[in-house]
Amino acid sequence: MEFLGSDALRGRGSGTADELVAATYVASQLRAYGIAPAGDKGGYLQRATLQQPKFTGPPQLTFTQPGTGGEKSSWTCGKEFAVLYLAQTHFSGKLHVINADEDDPQAAGAVVLILGNDRKRQRAKASSLGDKGAVAAIIATSAERAAQFRQRAKELPTLPVRIEGEDASGLGSDFNLLEASPEAATILKGLPENTTLTFDGPSASEKKYTWNALGILRGSDPVLQQTAVLLSAHLDHLGIGQPVNGDDIYNGADDDASGTTAVLELARALGSGPKPRRTVIFALFGSEETGGQGSTFFLQHPPVPLKQIAVNLEFEMLGRADPAVKSDTVWLTGWERSNLGPTLAARGAKLVADPHPKQNFFARSDNYVLAKKGVVAQTVSSYGLHSDYHQPSDDVAHIDFRHMDAAIASLLGPVRWLVNSSFTPQWNAGGKP
Ligand SMILES: [Zn+2]
Repeated sequence: MEFLGSDALRGRGSGTADELVAATYVASQLRAYGIAPAGDKGGYLQRATLQQPKFTGPPQLTFTQPGTGGEKSSWTCGKEFAVLYLAQTHFSGKLHVINADEDDPQAAGAVVLILGNDRKRQRAKASSLGDKGAVAAIIATSAERAAQFRQRAKELPTLPVRIEGEDASGLGSDFNLLEASPEAATILKGLPENTTLTFDGPSASEKKYTWNALGILRGSDPVLQQTAVLLSAHLDHLGIGQPVNGDDIYNGADDDASGTTAVLELARALGSGPKPRRTVIFALFGSEETGGQGSTFFLQHPPVPLKQIAVNLEFEMLGRADPAVKSDTVWLTGWERSNLGPTLAARGAKLVADPHPKQNFFARSDNYVLAKKGVVAQTVSSYGLHSDYHQPSDDVAHIDFRHMDAAIASLLGPVRWLVNSSFTPQWNAGGKP
C-alpha cells in the first residue's frame, strides 16, 4: 500500500510507464505468494494496445442554412460552439430542438439542441437523451455564462483513449455534448427540423499501451476447478496533473491502491493455505480511470473462458471508513441486484448494501464491464464521498489502516468459503444490467 500510493509511482497514470511499474510490482507480489502467472507469454502482465486520438486543429460543425439554396455553413469549435464531452472525432445527426423541461422526444440518432436557462436541468436532459440513443446534445448557453463559454472554447477538445481496433470502450459514454454560444443557439433554433448537423475535425492518433497484472490459482477439485472466482481491482490512477496546494501527484492511495492491496492480501492468504477447490483469478487492471480499457481487454482475452467465471468481486476504495455505515463495515454496489451480498454477509462478511444508490457506483467501476456480459460482478467499497476523491490529497497519510485491516479481515473467511463452494450467485429478477 505504501509503495503503490507513494510519490515514487507518480500516481500510476493510466497507460503510462508508472502504471507499468505498478503492474510489475503487483506481479512480483503475486509470484511471492505462490500465485501462477496468467498474462501474456507465460508472464503475469497482459498488455493492451491503445490509440489516443488528438485533434490537430479545431473541429467544425457543418449544416445547411435554410433559404440559401443549399449553402453550407461551417462553425468552428472555439468560436460559435465549444465541446463539453466528446466520444468521437466525427458524428452526424438530424437536428431536433427542445426545451430543458419538455418531455423527451424520440431522440435516437438525433442531435438535440436543449434550450433553457437552468444549466443543471439542461445537462440532466442531455444525459437522459444520451440514454435514449441521441448522437449528441447541444446546450444553449445563456448570455450570463458567455464569459465561461469563451474560456472553455479556447482549448482544443480532448478525446477518449480506445483499445486498438475498438469503437467503444467499456465504461465510456458514446455520447457527445456541445455548448453553443447564445448567438449560435439562436441560429440553430431557427433551422428547419431535421437539418443534418455534421461534426468533424482533423485528428491524429498516438499509439500507447496499458497493462493488467494477472495471476491464477488453479482449483484442486476436478469439477469445481472448471468454475472461477475473479477477484479484481484497478492499479492505475490519475498520474501527474494540475497542482493543488503545490502537489501535482495524484497518489490514488484510497483509489485504488487500497483495493489492489486487498486483492494482494487475499492472494497471499489463499496462496498460502490448502489449494481452493475452485479456480481463483487475481486481476489488477490498468486504465480504469480512462474508461475501463484494461478490464475490457481482459474480457476479450480472458485466462479462462468467460462462461467459467462464476462471480467477480471488485475492490474499490477500502482505505477509509464510510460514516454512512457501521464501523469496520464495507458495502456492495448493486446489493439488491443479486443474491451475492446477502450470502457473503450470512458467512460473516461485514458487508451491507451500498448506502449511496444515487451515485450509481454499480456502473462506475470495472465490475460493470463484466456485469454487462452477464457475470454476477459487484464492487466492495467503503468510499464515504470524502473530499480527497480524485485529488492529490488522496495519499497514504489519509488512509485509515485500522479500518482497512478490519474490513479486509472480515472478507477473508467468506471469500475462502466462496472459493471452496459450488455456490454460483444469480441475478435477481430485473437485476442484470
Ligand atoms: Zn477507482
